[in-house]
Parts: sequence; structure tokens; C-alpha cells
Amino acid sequence: MSVNRQIHLVSRPDPATGPSTANFALREAPVPQPGAGQVLLQTLYLSLDPYMRARMYEGANYAANAALNAPMVGATVSRVIASRNPGFVVGDIVESGHGWQEYALSDGTGLRRIDPSLAPISTALGVLGMPGQTGYTALLRHGRPGPGQTVVVSAASGPVGTVVGQTARLMGARVVGIAGGPDKGAYLTGELGFDAAVDHRAPDFAAQLAAACPDGVDIYYDNVGGPVFAAVLPLLNAEARVLVCGTVSVDRDRPGTGPALGSMQDLLSAALVKRLTIKGFIYSDPDLMAMEPDFRSTVSGWVRTGKLRYREDIVEGIEAAPQAFLGLFSGANFGKLLVRVHPE
Ligand code: NDP
Repeated sequence: MSVNRQIHLVSRPDPATGPSTANFALREAPVPQPGAGQVLLQTLYLSLDPYMRARMYEGANYAANAALNAPMVGATVSRVIASRNPGFVVGDIVESGHGWQEYALSDGTGLRRIDPSLAPISTALGVLGMPGQTGYTALLRHGRPGPGQTVVVSAASGPVGTVVGQTARLMGARVVGIAGGPDKGAYLTGELGFDAAVDHRAPDFAAQLAAACPDGVDIYYDNVGGPVFAAVLPLLNAEARVLVCGTVSVDRDRPGTGPALGSMQDLLSAALVKRLTIKGFIYSDPDLMAMEPDFRSTVSGWVRTGKLRYREDIVEGIEAAPQAFLGLFSGANFGKLLVRVHPE
């Protein structure tokens, strides 16, 4: 293990075509040696997430962009393989944010210790990590699901969507998932207990969605924006809550490349007439972070008892990261997308 293979961001996406594998390059560096107070981390799992696309561009939105000619940003689950920090011993498993590389140094700041006896360690990046936490906390705080309500969630087979849908179901709501293709739909209704699933790529998607929501929609947990949102809007009931979690269908740095979505006035008129609440949020918002202890105990309990299921899509080797990452934007992933960088 003398070589540290890293995937660097080497250029920003061309706004005309969007991100491509050409924006990344595999680079090699020596494995660093820990100094006083430091630990050496070996990456076991790297998380690939939709938010990374925005980081590739020049501007920043709610977080700074990724630097060029440095490992691409990202969360990892890692093992401490050398320690000169009294807070960590060799063998500790931690969540870290040291990006697309095989090894990294840390002084311990920001490391979150993971207990491997509680759940598979990879879940710290998915169902029991940032995506799952976002789904659970925002749904409960901003959506307030309950019996008699219909909850619709898009990107429903991913780590956010599966936690949203199953949490809503456990709260007694009727749940409709939107996902691409028959396999994902069958998974939602067959394995996860969703009441219905609709394929957003079907030519009659809007009609299928309307048929799946005979009593309208009380909560729409929007992970994708774009035309899927346009199909949900007319189905929203009075006092409905629209939870704006992500806009994965829209590359925000390529304005105007998506299909026309009607006028902004349509949205404002619907908001007025139907008394809609449209709530955007980031998982680290203080009110959502205050729910972290509840999320950890409740959702890990549901996972342990099989009440809440999850699915991971694991690709092998750091060199697979760029291609796999781009697949998030065509629905190539089926479940939480991870790279296995080193075996556990
Ligand atoms: P997923 O694993 O669900 O991957 C993204 C999925 O989006 C794809 O698999 C695909 O599923 C779907 N998708 C991609 N392009 C389109 C499109 N054009 N139209 C419709 N669906 C599309 O991702 P996550 O669960 O990790 O994240 C889901 C969303 O939540 C993202 O928008 C992400 O940015 C956001 N997020 C926001 C957070 C926050 O703090 N606000 C925190 C975490 C995530 P399919 O095959 O079904 O089309």
C-alpha cells in the first residue's frame, strides 16, 4: 500500500453538455504518514451523491465548489490503519469527508465513529446516514404525514426516497412512489410496501399518476423537480405541503436545457388557491439536525427489526467512481450508490 490512488476533478463541466468522465482523472500520490495528533484512514466505502454535480461547477450554492486538481469531494466510511491521535485506535471505523481517494490523513476533526455491531458500516452513508436522515427528518417536520393522507415521493427507490416512503407508510399514510422503470416500481410495491408506483418515463405518466392518487396529494416530497413536479402540481390538495429536497432532473448550471414547465404564474396561482406550503431545506438545517438523535434511534430500530428496508448499489474500485456517479443522472443506480474502495 505505497500508492494512494485518487480521482481528481481536473476541469469544470462544459455548460453546453454537462458533466462527463473527462472532468475527472485518476492520479497517484504516496500514501501519507500520520504526524503527531493524526490518524491514517483507509477508505472502505465512498458515497456518490447527486449534490456532487453542483460542486463540479465554478459557482457555489449552499456549499463551496470542489477544487480543481484535488480529490473530488465526498463522504466515506474508513478504517483507522495508523494512529498518533489518542482519541482513535487502529481498527476504528469512522465516517469521514475526505473524498475520492484510497487513503487520507485526519486530525480527528469531523470524524464520526461508527459502531459496526449496530448495522453494516456502509449504511452510515445511506439509510442511516445523510440521505436517510434528510428523508426522515424533513418528512416528519415539514410534511407531518398521517392516516388518511396521500404522500408522493420521487426518486423513490434511492436512499432518500425509500426512507421517505417507508416512514410515511409507518405513519399510516398512503404512499405513491415515482421511479424509473418496472424493476424499481416492483421493488417499491413488492418489497417496501408502497401502495402504488408510477414510472416517470411512461408516455402516459401524468395520467398514471392521477389514477394512482384518486384522493389527490397531501404531501409531495420532491427529489427531482422538472416535469415530474409539473405532473404532481395539478393533483395537490388544499393545504398540501411540497417538500423541495432536490432537483436532480435539472442541472442548475445549465439553465434552459430542460423542457418548458409552464409559467411561474401557474405555480403562484396554485399556491394561492390551494394554500400550498412549499418548503425547501438542507439536511444540516438546525431544526432538522435537532432531530438527529430521534432519527438514529428510530430508524436504526426499524432497520434492525426489518420494518424499514434498504438497498445498496455497490461498484468496485475507486476508478469506477466517475462513470458510476454520472449514472445518478440517468437512473442507472438502483439503491444507495457506493464505491467499495477496499474490502472490509
Ligand atoms: P438517488 O440514489 O435516488 O439517485 C438519483 C435518482 O434520481 C436516480 O436514480 C433517478 O432515479 C432519479 N433521476 C435522475 N434523473 C432524473 C430525471 N431527469 N427525472 C426524474 N428522476 C430522475 O439519490 P438520493 O436519494 O441520494 O437523492 C435524492 C435527491 O435528494 C437528490 O435530488 C439529492 O440532491 C437530494 N438530497 C437533498 C438533500 C438536502 O439536504 N436537501 C440531502 C440528500 C439528498 P429513477 O430511475 O427513479 O429515475
